[in-house]
Amino acid sequence: MNPVWKRVFHRLHRAPLISKRHQSGCAEHTSSSASTRSTSSKPRLLVSRLYQPASLRDVGQDSRLAGEMTCKSQRLMQQAGLIHPFNPGCYFYLPATVRSMEKLVRVIDQEMQGIGGQKLDMPSLCSADLWRTSERWDLMGKELLRLKDRHGADYCLGPTHEEAVTTLVAHQATLSYRQLPLLLYQITRKFRDEPKPKFGLLRGREFYMKDMYSFDVSEEAARQTYETVCQAYIQLFTRLGLRCVQVQADTGNIGGTLSHEFQLPTDVGEDRLLLCENCSFSANVETLSSSTTNCPQCKTGALVESKGIEVGHTFYLGKKYSSVFKATFSNPQNKPVVTEMGCYGLGVSRILAAAIEVLSTDEGIRWPGLIAPYQVCVLPPKKGSKVEEAAVLAEELVDCLGEVLPRLRGEIVLDDRTQMTIGKRLKDASRLGYPYVIVVGEAALQKPPTFEVICQQTGETLFLSKDGLLDLLGKVETV
Ligand SMILES: [Zn+2]
Repeated sequence: MNPVWKRVFHRLHRAPLISKRHQSGCAEHTSSSASTRSTSSKPRLLVSRLYQPASLRDVGQDSRLAGEMTCKSQRLMQQAGLIHPFNPGCYFYLPATVRSMEKLVRVIDQEMQGIGGQKLDMPSLCSADLWRTSERWDLMGKELLRLKDRHGADYCLGPTHEEAVTTLVAHQATLSYRQLPLLLYQITRKFRDEPKPKFGLLRGREFYMKDMYSFDVSEEAARQTYETVCQAYIQLFTRLGLRCVQVQADTGNIGGTLSHEFQLPTDVGEDRLLLCENCSFSANVETLSSSTTNCPQCKTGALVESKGIEVGHTFYLGKKYSSVFKATFSNPQNKPVVTEMGCYGLGVSRILAAAIEVLSTDEGIRWPGLIAPYQVCVLPPKKGSKVEEAAVLAEELVDCLGEVLPRLRGEIVLDDRTQMTIGKRLKDASRLGYPYVIVVGEAALQKPPTFEVICQQTGETLFLSKDGLLDLLGKVETV
């Protein structure tokens, strides 16, 4: 039999056997069958092959590239080979970061589509005429990144798309009240000509944003939609395990009459918040009078000042844009009526960095579990150590976890840099923040085998049997 077919045949016949035995853990293999299986039929993710270039990690010493290391998330992300500086305020997002961001995008998609949001993609290049119509071409000032095409026509790289989406909806002559509320959103790269980009991905000139726009039949309906979106935002941050506060905000140059910021309290933030010690009340310092010391909501709690990172912003816009661009729908009497709008932003790359900022230790990154680039890192023993023979058990474990827990396929990496000590590799694993690190050492050679599991989010170390390990990892949520 041709060797490829032999492997396929072998696998087909093995499959039911394995799933039956999975009830009580993984199938036991002899070392020789495990290593034949492993060489070609099951590609494993090997740390030695992941592009998280160690050569980039010492960028801290290279001031030309690093610029100022202005905050923890920036330092940790650069050191771990997650981002690499390019121009001021512009970064390479290296593969692990992209994995994490794609997961975050999936969570955002679930939440936005859960309330009826429909995803689209709008051009980044927006004509100045459109922005002149809304009078924002001048109002936006220097933060708007402007350019001219070869014909001398003015454009901007859109930091937000109220004008664009409203013209889109206005072009639809047949929009009926039955189709409202209409919620359109996109997750795209946005541009802002920051005077002083800093804090890594927290304040860049290029970043990813989710921007959603709602169209409703009346003010009442629009306020209801506004409330629904705010609830979806709160649910999103709850799923990520991030403490987020919703504070009353200024409407700025977006316009409208009602606005909230979603802030993650932390000491590097640029916004100043007052949080009640007792209840959920929170406000931006600017919105409260300076004489307020007790919570206006529960009356008893003291207000404590904190800084915050703004990760989301919502605006009720009314007819500000829809009347200018004539975005109308036909009412039950078939008469055109101007829609009521809202807009809702989430800083996608900023949420990633802000999460790292609030969850991490000084030595290593801690991710929201759901969006960690990889969930599990398995460490085989050092080559030449007296427990070297456990290496095969580590490989077997990686294959077994992928088979028994299909959700974890593609989420488990094997740190095959066995020329390095376990201690050194543990340090790297801690720096990168895999939620679960499994050390396969001496205890794995005992009967029954035991695995050391470091749960990085809680700081716990557990010693588990294979079944115990499967139980623990079976509860890991993935997206
Ligand atoms: Zn209170």
